[in-house]
Amino acid sequence: MTLIDVENLNVGYGDLQVLWDVSMTVEEDESVIAIVGPNGAGKTTLLKTLSGLLEPTSGTIEIFGEDTSEYSPEEIIEHGFVQVPEERNLFDDMSVYDNLRMGSYRHREQFEETREEVVNMFPVLEERRNQHAGTLSGGEQQMLAIGRGLMAQPKMLAFDEPSGALAPQLAERVFEKIEEISDDIPVLLVEQHVDRALELADRAYLLENGRIVTEGTGDDLLESDHVREAYLRG
Ligand code: ATP
Repeated sequence: MTLIDVENLNVGYGDLQVLWDVSMTVEEDESVIAIVGPNGAGKTTLLKTLSGLLEPTSGTIEIFGEDTSEYSPEEIIEHGFVQVPEERNLFDDMSVYDNLRMGSYRHREQFEETREEVVNMFPVLEERRNQHAGTLSGGEQQMLAIGRGLMAQPKMLAFDEPSGALAPQLAERVFEKIEEISDDIPVLLVEQHVDRALELADRAYLLENGRIVTEGTGDDLLESDHVREAYLRG
């Protein structure tokens, strides 16, 4: 089965068209699909459209074989497509524990069991369980945002700039966790750190000015002249 099948998607904000005829897929046997491109290319807009937060002007979206273009954001999460947003959207005045609880609102009866899996992956979320999310470091907040996404028991997890605003060492730890997650759950990874995202990706799309300009395996894109000249140093 094709997990994600997007065809000829056009999306904008009022009169400003941002995505132009975007088509992309994620196949069942793929672990990490990356969408890379510069600031303002439309990567976040694409993820928000998949998550039901923005309505396309035209085009089709199928997730896990179902037309989800009319689904609400809640229905998309229930369907199994969960996003870890760029802004993280944590509840700053709530504890780490309660933030995780908010992520599992649909699977309350499995809360403790799922939480155990999540804190095994991110032990810091157990160490800091009673601390307010707003007092965590940037790296810890990113771990919590990912942990909360996992609490929803996703069938696919999408990450919007997970390394954003993190020091290189912390960003690397986040990428390692994403790789670990992708052993079990397919990952859609949106990143400006083009080199690292392409290393992780089975396949990737390069988005520029709202259009997919190149598609290929991570290695293909790493070796492409255009990608090297525009996005990679050396
Ligand atoms: P970034 O890495 O900066 O998040 P991006 O590739 O994710 O970049 P988008 O955030 O999708 O790009 O933005 C694409 C374009 O849409 C930009 O020109 C941006 O200014 C515009 N845009 C984004 N959000 C809105 C909005 N709410 N209203 C109007 N224009 C918007």
